[in-house]
Amino acid sequence: MSTIVNQIFKPLLDFIYPPYCAICKEPLNGARVVCNECFDEILPTPIPFCQKCGKPLSNNEDTICKRCKETPLSLNYIRGIGIFDEPLRTIIHLFKYKRKLSLGKRLSNLLVSTFNSAVVLHNADVITPVPLHRVKFRERGYNQSEILARGLSKGTGIEYENLVKRIRYTRSQALMNEYDDRIKNVEGAFKVIKNVKGKNILLVDDVTTTGATLNAIAKEILKEGAKSISAIVLAVA
Ligand SMILES: [Zn+2]
Ligand SMILES: [Zn+2]
Repeated sequence: MSTIVNQIFKPLLDFIYPPYCAICKEPLNGARVVCNECFDEILPTPIPFCQKCGKPLSNNEDTICKRCKETPLSLNYIRGIGIFDEPLRTIIHLFKYKRKLSLGKRLSNLLVSTFNSAVVLHNADVITPVPLHRVKFRERGYNQSEILARGLSKGTGIEYENLVKRIRYTRSQALMNEYDDRIKNVEGAFKVIKNVKGKNILLVDDVTTTGATLNAIAKEILKEGAKSISAIVLAVA
């Protein structure tokens, strides 16, 4: 680039892609937004974790956690890359709310690794994202789960399809503490828009806390005759 172009565009580029890591503030050395050292600090979900919901188990639980035994999920399995802890928490925040879409590729790669090591997910016929309501989509400009689902589809060769629509605007689950509130909030919020009969569906989302959103979608999909539904997420909180 000529000096004059450099003078104009370099600051603009640096503004769009600041050359320092958003987490440790060290130079990025070619990486985008978050340096490779910080990104590599994302740890896999500690073992043992619940074989159903994917959350770490406490000492006195066997292979399935107390919650899954008492209130079984409609999903067969949920698996996460890791727990909702640093640096994953900040990286998800940057990706979801700060338009740092370049993180999508690296996060999708982690989903692919998690998928590859989770044999229980390997029967999936179709990958589909948790949908955003159109109002929220307009506000945010993108559906972070769709970016992840498309990346996972690319990395695994499993077909991608938008199977579900969000038909009711819901408050953010993150703002609710009570499990029952979260369930009520997403009740009747989703509609299946494609044929899912006989298919094994893999649902993709960024974070799951109580599993209420994933479960509400799973119920609708099973009602339409799908064979099974599981989910893969970035973080289990
Ligand atoms: Zn860093
Ligand atoms: Zn569980």
